[in-house]
Amino acid sequence: MRRRKDSHKTRDLALQRMERLFMLAAIVHAAHPERSDRYVQIARKICTRTRVRMPRPLKRLFCRHCGSFLTAAATRVRLREGVLTTTCLLCGEQMRRPYRPPGRAGPKNTRIPGLIDAIG
Ligand SMILES: [Zn+2]
Repeated sequence: MRRRKDSHKTRDLALQRMERLFMLAAIVHAAHPERSDRYVQIARKICTRTRVRMPRPLKRLFCRHCGSFLTAAATRVRLREGVLTTTCLLCGEQMRRPYRPPGRAGPKNTRIPGLIDAIG
């Protein structure tokens, strides 16, 4: 297996590109939803090629089954007993992740500056 010397550089670059792709996907989604899906595709490819994990806040922005960029209109979110279930209305698949009700321990800072503003 190849080992790269500049793995930190690769990682940083990969993360930057992923964030940028998702930001673009959010901006362009209203006018060209198919472009958003393509950006998701590219971001996922960057993950596999560079073996960099997708940051958690980005992970929940697309459907892991059909790869489409998810907006509030294309998803259904349900909370139940500490589990947050997101249903992709495009392919009908569900994604579940643990959910901690607010008010307990302080939330981790998972904000990506600019991305939240782009989504609105
Ligand atoms: Zn889907």
